[in-house]
Amino acid sequence: MATNIPELFGSSVFNDKIMRAKLPKDIYKALRKTIENGTHLELDVANAVAVAMKEWAVENGATHYTHWFQPMTGYTAEKHDSFISPTGDGQIIMDFSGKELVKGEPDASSFPSGGLRATFEARGYTAWDPTSPAFIKDHTLYIPTAFCSYSGEVLDKKTPLLRSMETLNREATHMLHLLGNTDVTGVSTTVGPEQEYFIVERDLYKKRKDLVFCGRTLFGAAAPKGQEMEDHYFGALKPRIADFMHDLDKELWKLGIPAKTKHNEVAPAQHELAPIFETTNVAVDHNQLTMEMMRKVARKHGFVCLLHEKPFEGINGSGKHNNWSLITNTGVNLLDPGKTPGENTQFLVFLMAVIKAVDDYADLLRISVAGAGNDHRLGANEAPPAIVSIFVGDELQAVMDSIENDTFFTGLHREQLETGAHVLPHFTKDTTDRNRTSPFAFTGNKFEFRMLGSSASVSTPNIVLNTAVAESLRQFSQKLEGVAPEEMGDAVHALLKETIIAHKRVIFNGNGYTDEWVKEAKKRGLYNLVSTPDALEHFTDDKNVELFVRHGVFTKEEIFSRDEILLENYSKSIHIEVKTLDDMLKKDFLPAVSAYVEQISDTAVKKKTLVPGLPLTYETSLITKLSSLQAEIASGLEQLLADADAADAKESALLTAKAYHEVVLAHMEALRVKIDEAESLVPDALLPYPTYDQLLFSI
Ligand code: ADP
Ligand code: MG
Repeated sequence: MATNIPELFGSSVFNDKIMRAKLPKDIYKALRKTIENGTHLELDVANAVAVAMKEWAVENGATHYTHWFQPMTGYTAEKHDSFISPTGDGQIIMDFSGKELVKGEPDASSFPSGGLRATFEARGYTAWDPTSPAFIKDHTLYIPTAFCSYSGEVLDKKTPLLRSMETLNREATHMLHLLGNTDVTGVSTTVGPEQEYFIVERDLYKKRKDLVFCGRTLFGAAAPKGQEMEDHYFGALKPRIADFMHDLDKELWKLGIPAKTKHNEVAPAQHELAPIFETTNVAVDHNQLTMEMMRKVARKHGFVCLLHEKPFEGINGSGKHNNWSLITNTGVNLLDPGKTPGENTQFLVFLMAVIKAVDDYADLLRISVAGAGNDHRLGANEAPPAIVSIFVGDELQAVMDSIENDTFFTGLHREQLETGAHVLPHFTKDTTDRNRTSPFAFTGNKFEFRMLGSSASVSTPNIVLNTAVAESLRQFSQKLEGVAPEEMGDAVHALLKETIIAHKRVIFNGNGYTDEWVKEAKKRGLYNLVSTPDALEHFTDDKNVELFVRHGVFTKEEIFSRDEILLENYSKSIHIEVKTLDDMLKKDFLPAVSAYVEQISDTAVKKKTLVPGLPLTYETSLITKLSSLQAEIASGLEQLLADADAADAKESALLTAKAYHEVVLAHMEALRVKIDEAESLVPDALLPYPTYDQLLFSI
């Protein structure tokens, strides 16, 4: 049956169209004003909105509502309350007030707070974010909210994001006014996150404790085939995968999520989904929902969706590309160079603001994507290196060179693309090729930050990006403030030139996967924060605290608490891996090896009785090999458990995390080599869990 997609799109969302239809005119106007300008929302408006929302929700099958929020776990949280309200005569009505819409009071003590609050100060608040639309899912009305403690400390990923959007809006609008563009009254940021993921059979998944508990395989010999044939990327979709993707699209469209592109990715069993970009906080909420729907729809199809950054060794892991730009309330993309970037002063100012921001706060950008999972990808020649640098391409490089050297920029020649086949349409080539190795690339009219891991919220990188760019613009404004209009051109040129000279070290248009770049980056004084603990050590550096405090995005205490949470998260993730490995080795793997050794021994004994003097070198060498690997694995495991205990006993969260990185993880990797070697000698039939070839090639 054909579905009317325009009708389906947003059908589960309390969107603008519904609001306009359901709300009295003045209420609708007041709400729009709050959404667009962030003005305070009066209670009578909230009450009217609540009534309309409830009516619409109940009509569409909802029985409950929930304040939906994003605590520091990186996941979303929800607690459902029904609309029922007793009328005193044993009956009920469906009721929902403005107060319930605007504010919730969940117990905050069981969410990570990084020592911000003692557990007896349990009260927390959730506050409605009217800029992200409410929606219905599973018979519940979901209200996007921010989450803070009783005393006002932020405990979530939405509040600082909204704050960062506000400060960037203020600084960018101010800059545009200084440049004479006074029509603009607001600037917001847009984000389009491309999401990678793996799909595996659910029955197989359930047999692997490492996938269930850690989201990744902790060992497993490589399948005979990996991604070397380059045949999966953009390959034809298998029917069951196509069905899954179709269902997923429909579920996302219902929720108003503009899912646009889907395709097979580089690794076997790996895929990607990209939406059309939206305002940042809506894009962040939608990415959370997308990940949730991927998991849910996959289950319906007998699959499991793996969002871990590195589910399988030896093939690519999954990331997320954060496409980011700035747009004015008059609809102008501030990162669109137009036909003549060399003459587009406004564009150049914003471009240089981003470049300066990325150079000044490269450490924070690296921190914003840090995590145990993502550490497996960054710098492993499948994702950008841990060094943050910017790719601008030939045309912008030429523009910047001409500004730096006071030479006249004549523009690059745009060639016709010659395919040699006359039936094909002709089009002009982009002025620059792509660079897949760059962590932060200019892609025509936006930047693409490519270091994000697949599982994490896209909130944090955008908090950093928005705040850092706001700071560049603030500093630029100080230099342009009070300059007479007739001198503005020269002042801007001087500012651009000085900024290029100061920050060109962060620009790198070459291959980021090479060792030469690592050396070169070191010479240039760029950060190379290889692991999460290395990166997090810099979170609380003075310059970073100053940045967030100045822009009202985090207090000093909030930064320290977040640092603590992230460090603990890192150590806990690896500790869970150690415990899972312990369990799998003792209960699944080592017994399987023993069973095989026994089988071979039995065979050898039988052979010997049957034909005395028959050579038994095959059996004896296999038994010897397996037994010695088994002994090494068993002792390696004991060492690993002791390492984890020692790491936990360190005096601070940072030292614990460092010990997990330097000792535990290193030993776990060495141990894995032995396990994989032994596994490759044991028949599949004796292994109580599915191997790589089954996991990656069975759909
Ligand atoms: P590319 O082929 O360069 O990756 P696409 O047009 O396919 O570009 O876009 C990739 C992602 O970037 C999509 O999610 C898209 O919506 C997003 N995107 C495009 N323009 C912008 C913008 N101005 N701001 C933020 N994201 C954008
Ligand atoms: Mg892309």
